[in-house]
Amino acid sequence: MIDFHCHLDLYPDPHAVARACDERGLYILSVTTTPSAWSGTEALTHGKTRIRTALGLHPQLAHQRKGELPLFEKLVSETRYVGEIGLDGAPEFKQHWADQLFVLRRVLKICEELGGRILSLHSRRAAGAVLDELTATPNVGMPILHWFSGSSRDLARAIDMGCWFSVGPAMLRGEKGRQLVRQMPKDRVLTESDGPFAQVSGRSMWPWEARDAVAELSAIWNVGHDAIERQILSNLATLGECGSRIGGPTSIRLRAEPSV
Ligand code: MN
Repeated sequence: MIDFHCHLDLYPDPHAVARACDERGLYILSVTTTPSAWSGTEALTHGKTRIRTALGLHPQLAHQRKGELPLFEKLVSETRYVGEIGLDGAPEFKQHWADQLFVLRRVLKICEELGGRILSLHSRRAAGAVLDELTATPNVGMPILHWFSGSSRDLARAIDMGCWFSVGPAMLRGEKGRQLVRQMPKDRVLTESDGPFAQVSGRSMWPWEARDAVAELSAIWNVGHDAIERQILSNLATLGECGSRIGGPTSIRLRAEPSV
């Protein structure tokens, strides 16, 4: 199955986790939080065909790592995937809002210039602001809102803009997350773990536990478990084909096979 947002490099033994994912046949999007983490994280994929690495600069680190933007720019041609990026409006990060905006705007501008990028976006307490930035850069690529927790109205706007979503067991535990997922188009949802940040029973979630979201989705959407698995895999294949811009036609032709 698919874990479209996890932090492989942040597990205590990343090589062992990458190996275990490979043995289980998992498709993985391994996101990074800083450009300087890129090369070590990318090295985890060597010899593994289903793991892709995303180049990121996490909003919670924007104020400390904005100096790595030139490195981001240098590395971005090596991957179709960008993340984790976004904005975080929680009180402890709101004080660095100007830096967060500066970093996100630069990253989106770079993606827009290059075209064809698939983006994994963080939008905690900042859904409206993230959607504003995406609206300002309509050719940015394919935005995937990870662990979306905005309002139902924000969600309707994101759907209208053509955004996709990655959802995990942690998000689906709460009634709010379940309500949001009920509203999401089934053909624009992927599963994720957000491990090792996301926890279950007081421990970090493993990437393969993203699969537990399938049972939740099956209950929420009232669709059989196997049909959901097929839908999610087919969504991944679609993503390989489109690389579209928001609300517009395909701007670049990408590989047709499931590529994560
Ligand atoms: Mn994350």
